[in-house]
Amino acid sequence: MTKWVYSFGGGEAEGSREMRELLGGKGANLAEMASLGLPVPPGFTITTEACNHFYAEGRKLPEGLTEEVETALAKIEALQGKRFGSREAPLLVSVRSGARSSMPGMMDTVLNLGLNDETVEALAASADRRFAYDSYRRFIQMYSDVVLGVDHHEFEAILEEEREARGAASDTELSAEDWETIVARFKALVEEINAAPFPQSPRDQLWGAIGAVFSSWMNARAITYRSLHDIPESWGTAVNVQAMVFGNMGDSSATGVAFTRDPATGEKALYGEFLVNAQGEDVVAGIRTPQYLTEAARIAAGSDAPSLETLMPEQFAEFAAHSDRLERHYRDMQDLEFTVERGRLWMLQTRNGKRTTRAALKIATAMAEEGLISREEAVMRIEPTSLDQLLHPTLDPKAERKVIAKGLPASPGAASGEIVFTPDKADILTKEGHAVILVRLETSPEDIQGMACARGILTSRGGMTSHAAVVARGMGKPCVSGAGALKIDHKAGTMTVLGKTYGEGDVITIDGSSGEVMEGRVAMLQPEVSGDFATLMQWADAARRLKVRANAETPEDARAARDFGAEGIGLCRTEHTFFQDDRIVAMREMIVAGDTQARRKALAKLLPLQRKDFLELFQAMRGLPVTIRLLDPPLHEFLPKGEHEIAEVAAAMGTDATLLGERILELTEANPMLGSRGCRLLLLHPEIPEMQTRAIIEAAQQAARLTGEPVTPEIMVPLVGMIGEFNRVKAVIDAAAAAVNEAGAPKIDYTVGTMIELPRAALRARELAGEAAFFSFGTNDLTQTTFGISRDDAASFLTRYQELGILEKDPFVSIDTDGVGALVRLAAHEGRAGRPDLKLGICGEHGGDPASIHFCEQAGLDYVSCSPYRVPVARLAAAQAVIGRTTASSETA
Ligand code: ADP
Ligand code: MG
Ligand code: MG
Repeated sequence: MTKWVYSFGGGEAEGSREMRELLGGKGANLAEMASLGLPVPPGFTITTEACNHFYAEGRKLPEGLTEEVETALAKIEALQGKRFGSREAPLLVSVRSGARSSMPGMMDTVLNLGLNDETVEALAASADRRFAYDSYRRFIQMYSDVVLGVDHHEFEAILEEEREARGAASDTELSAEDWETIVARFKALVEEINAAPFPQSPRDQLWGAIGAVFSSWMNARAITYRSLHDIPESWGTAVNVQAMVFGNMGDSSATGVAFTRDPATGEKALYGEFLVNAQGEDVVAGIRTPQYLTEAARIAAGSDAPSLETLMPEQFAEFAAHSDRLERHYRDMQDLEFTVERGRLWMLQTRNGKRTTRAALKIATAMAEEGLISREEAVMRIEPTSLDQLLHPTLDPKAERKVIAKGLPASPGAASGEIVFTPDKADILTKEGHAVILVRLETSPEDIQGMACARGILTSRGGMTSHAAVVARGMGKPCVSGAGALKIDHKAGTMTVLGKTYGEGDVITIDGSSGEVMEGRVAMLQPEVSGDFATLMQWADAARRLKVRANAETPEDARAARDFGAEGIGLCRTEHTFFQDDRIVAMREMIVAGDTQARRKALAKLLPLQRKDFLELFQAMRGLPVTIRLLDPPLHEFLPKGEHEIAEVAAAMGTDATLLGERILELTEANPMLGSRGCRLLLLHPEIPEMQTRAIIEAAQQAARLTGEPVTPEIMVPLVGMIGEFNRVKAVIDAAAAAVNEAGAPKIDYTVGTMIELPRAALRARELAGEAAFFSFGTNDLTQTTFGISRDDAASFLTRYQELGILEKDPFVSIDTDGVGALVRLAAHEGRAGRPDLKLGICGEHGGDPASIHFCEQAGLDYVSCSPYRVPVARLAAAQAVIGRTTASSETA
């Protein structure tokens, strides 16, 4: 028989942290905390299996669940000395959702469940009337919103009216009688909208809430969040039912949230916020300004409101001790929720905290140095692609800036963009290629899509734990929250500050690390790898086997690559430097030349340019290996287009524009990506590889003389399918190199290898390896030729293919292991059979994709090559591929 319900509380639990698949993250951790003997209000968890059953059976709860819930409820009653629905000592519960991985703000929680017209009176008698009715109205509001589908704005409008009628600035000024009036109006509103009275039976309330939590797994917000975070629908959510504890029972009560280390910087210090006499989401809702937990944080922020440390020293000390214990127990930074009810501390939640990448690096390196985790674990804790955040520009401290407002530094990083006031507009403008900053009073879960496409987020309300702040940190986007000086008018589409009004399209810059909001664009600085980042990269380098190279053509890119730790250049695409203005004409002359003599004339112009490029590249790489691919231009990209370009080239060649036009027609191909490119072009015109080899070897000689660090150029032949193609091009290369080596000094050693980017090449790998010194997998073309579709055209199919379940991942992003990957494995195996010391690398864009790097490690390649800014990502991914993902990675934001 399936067990659907797991109890916890009173120092023991049926579940544990290992059971998060079944109990969800929240339930598993509540069970764990209860077993550790921490003060957790007793409760029970209904499993994710029950949720899956619910959907499999057309939204019906499983049989036997009622009995199990009743038994578990009785256990809570016994522990609390209260009864659910009792008129003397009523037990109230919260109903909380909890998926396997946390989905902040996505699923709804109902507090104070079990209140009705009778139990509220019992609560009033046992505690305080104002508190009882405040709790009741909160319950009606939440329950109606989550379970009955009554929009929460309707309730807020009533609240607003009642406050105004009494001249009350905030809820704390409302009396017990005021709340009674409000409760009556709330109930009338629900009855009017729903044509049924607000449910009075606590058991009906409970089952209504349980059903609503399961149903919310499929609401639009949850679905969007799942698709943004690759969470499968099949996981389902658990439901937690837990005895209520009250932070709103007067001035000896409080509620708060905390991180065991600073989630923005990673600094080792308890970090958090709380409110006195408040409940649940009050702290994160941004209605009242929360206070700091510690004195240190209060002083640093210059706040007058007392910290928990001074206000409730005993409870603070107990909480600090629990935090410490939980961090050591979970061996990771924890995100905690707590409540103090009349001087008694209760722990309500713990989970691995979300953090910025900078914080993740600091925490991982610090924990390794504290001996809490090993260096390998530290390396495993960082999501490679999250390093992207640090590999982007930050504000130049020397740049001039006009600060127009200051808010909270809610999520680090800087961004400039045009103001937009709605998530929809953010979406539209981004698609049109604009960079936008989403400006809101505060954000809510419906705004997720708009937040995802904005460069940064700016709100005038909310704290460090507001929705905007939490979600932005999760997305790795800069965010400034609570910039109270901004007067935002959503209707008018304006933002006014310091007497000036800004509209949609006006450019601003935000700095999520300082909280500053600036007018216009501000100069930014290029990133570098230093501090904790550098330390972690060293640990990664110690663990990895794969070498990491960069794809680079210019000396700037080569230097950036070296700074980021590249160990060579894996791909220099020689045609790329010919797009520049001063060279494109000569390049075009060469392409359209009607005979060898004309082509040689054009090539003579290109030779010194190429030699200079290679020299700079060799100098920048100071002796590290450099792989240069011979010319591989898709012709159509270089053929002159339009009258102006044709006239320009005709003039340079001294021929007639009409004749040239005819020649261009002759050269025009039906399918240029599969036309006379790569080794086909090189075979057709051997004077091209001859010139390029000469440029390479001469540049290497010069570089060796200038730097004293000899380079060994690796000359690569593109688009080979047949051994004969390779051999003939190699013969031209060898002859040209021999001529240069005879004429000048020092003698340059070089190797000649081939790209593997056609299935035929992969199939003939053993034979090719007999002649080629290295293989470099050109996985962009290999994917196009394996799938028979060009990368650009594939985009329109992919979504459909993914919907239909034909393809899971985009094969142009992650190596398709069944097809392209199978060819790579085959070629690697066969190639090594033909030449045991064959050097193997990959130079497609896959070289910077962590999943593909994992594959390359397993396939036994020697190196991956990616764009310079991806090099740190690749170094980390390569290390993780060796260590193996055995430790659970933390929830890096
Ligand atoms: P979320 O996953 O969105 O954080 P939670 O289920 O954790 O939602 O609950 C929302 C808020 O209600 C939190 O502040 C939490 O601490 C509080 N809360 C939940 N259950 C209880 C309870 N039994 N007693 C008091 N407060 C509770
Ligand atoms: Mg929570
Ligand atoms: Mg190619």
